[in-house]
Amino acid sequence: MAADFAELGLSEPLLKAVAAKGYRTPSPIQRQCIPAVLEGHDVMAAAQTGTGKTAGFTLPLLERLRHGPHARGGVVRALVLTPTRELAAQVAENVVAYGRYLDLRSDVVFGGVSINPQIDRLRRGTDVLVATPGRLMDLQQQRALRLDQVEILVLDEADRMLDMGFIRDIRRILALLPERRQNLLFSATFSGEIRRLAHGLLHQPVQLQASPENGTAPLVEQVLHPCDMARKGDLLCHLIRSNDWRQVLVFSRTKHGANRMAERLEKEGLSAAAIHGNKSQGARTRALAGFKSGEVRVLVATDIAARGIDIHQLPQVVNLDLPNIAEDYVHRIGRTGRAGQNGHAISLVAAEEQELLRAIEKLTGTTLPRTVVPGFEPTVLTAPPLDLSGGRGRRGGPTRGGERSGEERRRRSPDAGARTGERRPAREGDRRERSRPRSR
Ligand code: AMP
Repeated sequence: MAADFAELGLSEPLLKAVAAKGYRTPSPIQRQCIPAVLEGHDVMAAAQTGTGKTAGFTLPLLERLRHGPHARGGVVRALVLTPTRELAAQVAENVVAYGRYLDLRSDVVFGGVSINPQIDRLRRGTDVLVATPGRLMDLQQQRALRLDQVEILVLDEADRMLDMGFIRDIRRILALLPERRQNLLFSATFSGEIRRLAHGLLHQPVQLQASPENGTAPLVEQVLHPCDMARKGDLLCHLIRSNDWRQVLVFSRTKHGANRMAERLEKEGLSAAAIHGNKSQGARTRALAGFKSGEVRVLVATDIAARGIDIHQLPQVVNLDLPNIAEDYVHRIGRTGRAGQNGHAISLVAAEEQELLRAIEKLTGTTLPRTVVPGFEPTVLTAPPLDLSGGRGRRGGPTRGGERSGEERRRRSPDAGARTGERRPAREGDRRERSRPRSR
């Protein structure tokens, strides 16, 4: 097995960039993925954020592109599709960092920001374009770019793109690509829907796995604190204070719940910010920057907003609510215990969430250790499950029907999803953008 990057077939400019990032040895997914991509194979990889997958596809992609003629006249040579703006921005940062000693042009486009500067930039041609599907389709419809010469396609976090309802856009984009191209598909989980997409897309793919299929990341200690729904906020404050947590990512099922919790924490003197689809891009970027720098101690996020956030060695992740979709639990706790560091995933679970808990334990094949926090013993031991169907939730629950917005409505119970097999689009910002009148 290759011990360092030089043995994987990367050339000097890329090795220099890797060294500048401070990486000494390739991660397991990089060891497998880099040679496979360099050899020109299609790749289907089960890998979530934190495994080093971004460098796993970006490094060999740049290596291959550096040997061909540069892009010009609106042409895109490599297209990386990601589900969210945040992930797009992060992947693009990686492309810039790894490509710093190469003469390749890269760019990133996503919704929520003005389209005209993007149109102007793309005219010159782009060797690597990182994009969210909705904005890419808008740009394509405005003839701002050409996808008929794409050499390499990467679908990053494909499961999340399908979950967000991007399948139609993805299929439309695929129809615009040339038949001869290299395809790389990354996904944390492999549902039937992903496999169907992969089947039609990939040609004799090399199959890679960075972590056990549908399993949670290693090096994450998971614990569950049973408590009453009404006391979750108190318990979170208590845990942050008593453990002196300095950087905590808290997941809330709803945007409203995220706002409420962030306000509450601020009132308690704990610096906090909320990120979700209703926040402007500027507000999200500021909150994330504050969290990364340590200025913001607690970041309260919805699943979609938090997806793909790259934060080094995040020590604590707290599930203030359990996610409606069991796979999201795996994604959430993938934020912690990264790059060889131990992490802690703490779930605050009320009686109303027992069904969600069962679905999570079934998916991950584990029973989460239960620890009651003294002073927060649950008093409600059985309760009807939460109404996740989009109707009115019960009083005191984290979601009240009238307050739900698109992002929450589509995140339905795992059971409902399994029964109907349908997915509703929820395209955080990226999609909303499209209904606004365009100006050129
Ligand atoms: P990713 O899974 O691509 O989001 O990467 C997770 C984190 O690991 C990022 O912060 C990378 O900068 C970092 N990383 C990627 N590859 C390596 C490596 N070989 N050694 C150390 N850190 C790495």
